[in-house]
Amino acid sequence: MNENHQVLFRKYRPQFFKDVIYQDLAVGSLQNAFKTKKIGHAYIFIGPRGVGKTTIARILAKRLNCENPDGVEPCNKCLSCTEITKGNSNDVMEIDAASNSGVDNIRDLRENVKFNAMGGKYRVYILDEVHMLSSAAFNALLKTLEEPPPHVVFILATTEYHKIPETILSRCQDFHFRKVPVAVLQQYVETLCVKENFKFDSEGLFWIAKKGDGSVRDTLSFMEQAVVFTDGNLTGVKLRKMIGYHGIDTFIELLEDILDPARSAKIFEKLETFFQEGMDLIKFTWDFLEFLNSLLLIKDNLADRESLNIPVEDLQKLKLQFRELDREVLILLAENLFLIHEKMNQMKLRSSYEVKVYLEIQFRKLILEREKPSVSGLLAKLADLTKQIQSDIGNLPEGGEKETETRKPLIPEAKRPSPQIPTNINKPTSASAALDEKLLPSPQETPKAASPTPEAETKPKTSADPNEMEKLLKEKFAGMEVDPGQFKNL
Ligand SMILES: [Zn+2]
Repeated sequence: MNENHQVLFRKYRPQFFKDVIYQDLAVGSLQNAFKTKKIGHAYIFIGPRGVGKTTIARILAKRLNCENPDGVEPCNKCLSCTEITKGNSNDVMEIDAASNSGVDNIRDLRENVKFNAMGGKYRVYILDEVHMLSSAAFNALLKTLEEPPPHVVFILATTEYHKIPETILSRCQDFHFRKVPVAVLQQYVETLCVKENFKFDSEGLFWIAKKGDGSVRDTLSFMEQAVVFTDGNLTGVKLRKMIGYHGIDTFIELLEDILDPARSAKIFEKLETFFQEGMDLIKFTWDFLEFLNSLLLIKDNLADRESLNIPVEDLQKLKLQFRELDREVLILLAENLFLIHEKMNQMKLRSSYEVKVYLEIQFRKLILEREKPSVSGLLAKLADLTKQIQSDIGNLPEGGEKETETRKPLIPEAKRPSPQIPTNINKPTSASAALDEKLLPSPQETPKAASPTPEAETKPKTSADPNEMEKLLKEKFAGMEVDPGQFKNL
């Protein structure tokens, strides 16, 4: 497999500027240097690993020494070009600064640069991981950069720009390399699949590109392994199995299980199944969390973001399916899962069984959490109530509010018979209370009079007729005059 890995990566390593993917900015500037014949003596290539810094440095070295250049490109056929491709040119020195970081290494280099190029025109020094040099080594290098021999070109490459001394940077032309977006990598992998006669589907390509994490080199390394694992059948189903990802449908189902109280049992059935299948439940928790985060990005219309962990085909599906889902519920859920995931890592649980038990407990807590109303849900209810109250106030007759207010505290007391009630009501103070006396029911009628109580509570809210409400209120007060013992049946 390791041998295979070398094959793909080497086979497709760009040999021309035009074959480099995505780094148009850096490549364009270098090509311009050849067009205008302004070749610098020191370049610094800055950018993440595996995006083509060394590859471009080699193409540059080839073009500098090529016997038959084709415009801005090297010929890749002459002796100089083929030697550089094979890595045995005497004029191109690749030095790994990580393992040659001392001042003595740079002193040797300074002795070496004095010699003229043997075959070509330039002696090219490619210093990889140059930020690893010691400060003494940087100082020694600086002396060479200050007065470089005319036949020498330095190409420094680094992933950590901030570790390079300012004095060095000011002597170099800088070129910035970027991570390659998933969509670009996906397209690139597809062209390779066609060339290599691999079977594939769109989701399969997505996972290969995703695993490359912006690096062409890592993408091809992973693709190499995937070809072996899937026997050249790079489909989403096989790739998911390879990387231990359950696929978006599992997460959709789990989310629905969590949201729907009737489906809670399914959460635990799923955890058990995953455990039996030997799945890494901590990774699963993280994947689910990423899924929820992606869902939030989709809801916020940020779905085209590179970080999204969802194949493009599934975006629309998710958008539709969870259109109605409250953002706040999602945020709370994601936040809880993040804490659960962090806690699991901290706790260093000893076995997958412990992880499962812990997750089961946490999911039970999540279910309890779900029962609590959300803040936005409460706000919506509050808004409804406010509307209701406003319409009630609009519907109430003059003085009606006051009447209901005096009535309200009496109802619960009436339900809990108390000797004070009849005494209080026997002392009418308002005109309406005086009216009550005329409408007093006979003792036989009291059960009837008591029965409208629940109606009296609701009717004034919906009724716009002042007369009707007054009547109801009177009935209400009338009921209070009877022996409290009679309310026991209410
Ligand atoms: Zn050539």
